[in-house]
Amino acid sequence: MAGMKFDYAPAPESRAIVDLKSSYGLFIGGEFVDSRDGRPFKTISPASEEVLAEITEAGPQDVDRAVAAARSAFESTWSGMRPADRAKYLYRVARIIQERARELAVLESLDNGKPIRESRDVDIPLVAAHFFYYAGWADKLSYAGFGPDPRPLGVAGQIIPWNFPLLMLAWKIAPALAAGNTVVLKPAETTPLTALVFAEICQQAGIPPGVVNIVTGAGDTGRTLVEHPGVDKVAFTGSTEVGRMIAKSVAGTGKKVTLELGGKAANIIFDDAPIDQAVEGIVNGIFFNQGHVCCAGSRLLVQESVYDDVLASLKRRLTTLRVGDPLDKNTDIGAINSAAQLARIRELSEVGEQEGAERWSPPCELPDRGFWFPPTVFTGVSQAHRIAREEIFGPVLSVLTFRTPDEAVEKANNTPYGLSAGVWTDKGSRILSIAAQLRAGVVWANTFNRFDPSAPFGGYKESGYGREGGRHGLEAYLDV
Ligand code: NAD
Repeated sequence: MAGMKFDYAPAPESRAIVDLKSSYGLFIGGEFVDSRDGRPFKTISPASEEVLAEITEAGPQDVDRAVAAARSAFESTWSGMRPADRAKYLYRVARIIQERARELAVLESLDNGKPIRESRDVDIPLVAAHFFYYAGWADKLSYAGFGPDPRPLGVAGQIIPWNFPLLMLAWKIAPALAAGNTVVLKPAETTPLTALVFAEICQQAGIPPGVVNIVTGAGDTGRTLVEHPGVDKVAFTGSTEVGRMIAKSVAGTGKKVTLELGGKAANIIFDDAPIDQAVEGIVNGIFFNQGHVCCAGSRLLVQESVYDDVLASLKRRLTTLRVGDPLDKNTDIGAINSAAQLARIRELSEVGEQEGAERWSPPCELPDRGFWFPPTVFTGVSQAHRIAREEIFGPVLSVLTFRTPDEAVEKANNTPYGLSAGVWTDKGSRILSIAAQLRAGVVWANTFNRFDPSAPFGGYKESGYGREGGRHGLEAYLDV
């Protein structure tokens, strides 16, 4: 019967494949080293609050050492290496990621809280795909449209968020290395573990020491890296608030910068859309990765004439989603990444109710320990509501309606962000016309949250500037 949920026996993926150490140092100059002026902190599993490992918060001296190692590797080996040899290293990394895919998927789900189904089938395959893709560019930079002999920039300082830890690392490191730069990367404080295993993979692949350096830590470590005079390029993915601070701090320094920031995407359903497919797209758009997705379809715009049908189907579908243990292969929605993020989702959801929107969640039991939030739908949302304007970054959908295509475009563009959007309709001409009017870096048609290493990704307005992915993604790492 539609909407009925069968009882599944738990099918947890084994943790045995992961060899977690009790503590990790910093990865500088090709080795794991102790911190000189940092201090330890713990990374926990958001699904159980169990401590997974002790991590090092890098201090200014550590960051300085990492930047020096990257500079030395840039000058002595990497920038002058034959491009075809750089490509071989990147291929080797991609192959090892494939070989260690299961281990990386389990570790990502443990540290981040995302369902193993997603880390196994989406995150890690895409990580390998990015390294394969940019390996292919390493010896073809002269044909990339940036002049006959484009040069690397030097040392890249890269800062990434917690929602796709290893995938964001791949988006940053693969193009940087392909273009001949060396890197110092700082993973997010709540999800450092796969970056540290990536450091092991660099050792395994024989990447020359200092080409990749990983400094763990929180905002202070990130700020030190951004402000370091030895960094030639800053690449940041994270919140618009921190992105703004970074833009200010690098202004006038001559450092190149790319910012991939927040979003509040419209997912637009026209009355001629295939409703069942659209409902799958809505679910994927906002409940994939617990809604911790910068390009999530968090504002659903439904044409009034199909509103009742769409909402009924959507609610029916949501009653079938399983929330729980990220390592269980049946799980659709895992844990919220941190207590702080859960508090923000709760706060904005309460504001939604106070402002008069109607809140609905399917009946679902949440585990006692860990950080959890049920899939939630708000109807009766107006454009002025905070839940229609602010990024919630959680499994919360705000539903609005429209009557005409013009109204849909106007509402979709009524946001300070401009990262992504979705259009669902049977008519090709309508897809083209609406997509051309949407101020969003990516517009998906009759699909959502599709990623490919060859496709550029990035935003307009407060979603940031610069593009990652594809040929465009090389430009950010070349002196052009
Ligand atoms: P955040 O900005 O708080 O943190 C991101 C990273 O920046 C972390 O590694 C953090 O330690 C570091 N950081 C914090 N303060 C810093 C400072 N002053 N200087 C330098 N680094 C600093 O964001 P978050 O909460 O971790 O991530 C969620 C945000 O990221 C959301 O807004 C989301 O939309 C955005 N995001 C964007 C994209 C994209 O491609 N556009 C992708 C994923 C996430």
